[in-house]
Amino acid sequence: MFSYRHAFHAGNHADVLKHTVLIAMLRHLLQKDTALTVFDTHAGAGLYRLDGEYAETSGEAADGFLKLLAALKKPSAPAKKGGTAKPLVDGVAPILQDYVDLVASFNQPGSHKIYPGSPFIIQHLLGERDKLKVFEIHPTDVKTLSANIKQLEAGRQVAVLREDGFEGIKKFLPPPARRALVLSDPSYEIKNDYARVVAMVADSLTRFATGTYAVWYPIIPRPEAHDVPRKLKTLATKAGKSWLNATLTIKSSKLTSDEAGDVVRPGLPASGMFIINPPHTLKAALQLALPQLVEVLGQDQHATSTVEFGG
Ligand code: SAM
Repeated sequence: MFSYRHAFHAGNHADVLKHTVLIAMLRHLLQKDTALTVFDTHAGAGLYRLDGEYAETSGEAADGFLKLLAALKKPSAPAKKGGTAKPLVDGVAPILQDYVDLVASFNQPGSHKIYPGSPFIIQHLLGERDKLKVFEIHPTDVKTLSANIKQLEAGRQVAVLREDGFEGIKKFLPPPARRALVLSDPSYEIKNDYARVVAMVADSLTRFATGTYAVWYPIIPRPEAHDVPRKLKTLATKAGKSWLNATLTIKSSKLTSDEAGDVVRPGLPASGMFIINPPHTLKAALQLALPQLVEVLGQDQHATSTVEFGG
């Protein structure tokens, strides 16, 4: 049985990177007249409470979304959570403001109890003609997700599939209007996920070469994790497709020890988003936004960001 529950991690620095990129891509892709189909191969529960038991136990949003929110507020309005508010030096990158505003729109003014997961972020931006298909296999999360989606009354626009997302996507490609964004955000709880996500993109490109594929991956000291962007880059290059790889590191990955001499694991220090066929506007938007995220979310001198691209 899977033990990963995204509720513990909602709004952390990895979500900040992933959801900022997701929103920026959708804003661009949704400008066209033709319908877009969005696939979310690993959907999670859809909506999370930042004041709930799970999020409060881990406190990860305090070092992610809530810290960014506090930094975007004026210094005269310090945040209750997430440390001292500090204004961004050179004005806020538009895609960061867009991300924070979108999350805020799920909350009462001034309150930040709800954090939308990827299915809700996507659905929020879609037009009537666009479709969303989400996959989730955790028995509890898929029930919560279905109940949450039902409340949207989105009808046939959104389909929740209790299926393996890596396999399930195959039957939908290419989509009817031949425009699609595929987000793949595995928990990497199973070691095989690293190879499966690459295989899924490889297979998808043979079915539908012009789709936009976005893969989130952790940057941790494990060879399989390092292989993900490396293999995706090779895939994209061989297929003659453009690609973009954005990374955000907030702290060192080194183990430390506490006062009692026990080893302290640093938690997730960094993550990346690898995109094949990215919108042409994404590179410049991220080159502006990521250094600001480093400034706000960075915890030590190892904090850094990169935007690499090719094709
Ligand atoms: N994308 C979500 C978001 O941004 O809000 C978070 C997803 S979370 C990182 C990964 C989810 O994938 C978990 O809820 C897990 O239960 C689910 N999962 C794991 N393996 C899966 C598979 N093979 N197919 C579909 N879902 C899977």
